[in-house]
Amino acid sequence: METIRWNLKNDYLYNQKAIKGAAELLKSGSVVAFPTETVYGLGADATKEEAVSKIFQAKGRPQDNPLIAHVATKNQLTRIVGNYPPFVDKLMDAFVPGPLTFVLPSNGTCVENVTAGLSTIGVRIPDHPVAQELLSVSDIPIAAPSANISGKPSPTTGHHVWADLQGKIAGLLDAGPTGVGVESTVIDCTHEVPIILRPGGITKEQLETVVGSIIIDPAIAGANERPAAPGMKYKHYSPEVPLWLVKGGHRKMQQVIDEEKNGRQVGVIASTETAQALEADNMISLGWELPEIAAHLYEALRTFKEGDVEIIICEAFPEEGIGQAIMNRLKKAASVYL
Ligand code: AMP
Ligand code: MG
Repeated sequence: METIRWNLKNDYLYNQKAIKGAAELLKSGSVVAFPTETVYGLGADATKEEAVSKIFQAKGRPQDNPLIAHVATKNQLTRIVGNYPPFVDKLMDAFVPGPLTFVLPSNGTCVENVTAGLSTIGVRIPDHPVAQELLSVSDIPIAAPSANISGKPSPTTGHHVWADLQGKIAGLLDAGPTGVGVESTVIDCTHEVPIILRPGGITKEQLETVVGSIIIDPAIAGANERPAAPGMKYKHYSPEVPLWLVKGGHRKMQQVIDEEKNGRQVGVIASTETAQALEADNMISLGWELPEIAAHLYEALRTFKEGDVEIIICEAFPEEGIGQAIMNRLKKAASVYL
């Protein structure tokens, strides 16, 4: 399949034409990648089973993992969900559009391979002008997981999408780097108290300012346990070479780097502050503050390739604010956590 790649730039008419072309592909049942403020999404018409199945094929994604349906407005959202508790409206007023996915009762409009057969559906209104325009113009709910090959780090540039999916999808709207850099927060709103199922772009602290109490799903705590041993097979966010996550500041980092260097090529990922205190050959500094670190994380995980380095040593970041999402992804990507 030849993939159409639209390189969006500061050209209103060209961009409008590209988005219209992408919307037409979506409406005809094809799969198109598009930018959101979190990561690039791989979209298909959420009301057509056959269209949605093409997402799973292109990504190699396991069928039992439900997809998030994306819509442009609250009005479009109400067309695909059933009744929900009043705190959802409060959260929407505060954080929508934005990197927050609501798990709500499904009204059956979206097909079974979107919801993985559940009675609930994950819905999100993204805050990116291209995504907004695409969803408005196509006027259908768009199921979209991240636009990467399953298991790899999510794509935060059009280039990442192209590298993974060129030839496997109908189109790509390339609008350069996304902003937030980690996926949306997923919040289950089908109980009396909201439950965070996945930490992401909207932090627990932000949510608490609106709804008071909030529960973190115990499964997240489980996933947060340190991986048992090196050499395990990883299914999430995995770079091409093993990643070691190191807690304890630049001194511990330097110690591990020096020990591991012994004839091996080591790649290092750290905050700018830590990087400045380290001595290493292949180093990527992610930025000073956690939001900057989140924005550059997946790019860094994709930069160190097999053949260039044999191991990645990455700093463990504070688990506060968006650091919770960063560390959730890093723990899943890591083969060792020291
Ligand atoms: P991805 O689009 O690959 O970033 O993943 C979507 C995330 O949302 C996954 O963690 C899903 O398990 C979660 N999700 C989507 N729909 C539901 C749902 N109906 N119930 C619970 N989790 C969901
Ligand atoms: Mg994903």
